[in-house]
Amino acid sequence: MTAATTSPTTPAAAWAELCSGNVRFVEDRMLHPSQGIDRRAELSAEQHPFAVVFGCSDSRVAAEIIFDQGLGDLFVVRTAGHVLDTTVIGSIEYGVSVLGAPLVVVLAHDSCGAVAATVDAMTTGNVPPGFVQAVVDRVIPSIVGLTASGRPLDTFDAATLGHEHVLHTARQLHGYSVSLAKEVTEGRCAIVALEYTLADGRARVAQVIGDIGAGMGVVPPQD
Ligand SMILES: [Zn+2]
Repeated sequence: MTAATTSPTTPAAAWAELCSGNVRFVEDRMLHPSQGIDRRAELSAEQHPFAVVFGCSDSRVAAEIIFDQGLGDLFVVRTAGHVLDTTVIGSIEYGVSVLGAPLVVVLAHDSCGAVAATVDAMTTGNVPPGFVQAVVDRVIPSIVGLTASGRPLDTFDAATLGHEHVLHTARQLHGYSVSLAKEVTEGRCAIVALEYTLADGRARVAQVIGDIGAGMGVVPPQD
């Protein structure tokens, strides 16, 4: 496959490109774009990725593969359980403000081990070893609200817990990053929270903050 000739420059175009790539992946029609010698050479001096993908580190959710993209297309930031901290937010801001990416994806997936470990820690008191606890500590704020009604956390299904976590992560990112929020307000960027399903490879929209076209823009919800 030859190098991409036109890289998306708007949130809507970037979203359309990611959607197309994920459909190709789901249907086993991948083009493996931007992975040849020409593309490598073209990128040696500079990069203009069209999306920041901030996702879970899970080995089964590799961004370039599931969106059928190549070198120079995606600025990828990954942590276990897609948990945020200051260097993660700084990395995402770099992709948007410095490199000019018009879209940020927060990529969650089903059967996330970080979410499961957090539920385990909160219901049994089992504390993960070493700095793994820091990951769990950053998932807790996403799902602790579910217990407000008094219902035990371990009675919620994994899909509900994962959904809450990705929604909270997207809102948290938008809330913490002043520069990203400004880009969203001015229409230069948008944030899309996606839930990826391991079995079928499809990434589904959980939430949109900003405008990605086709009537999918929404007002950012408040915590
Ligand atoms: Zn995960």
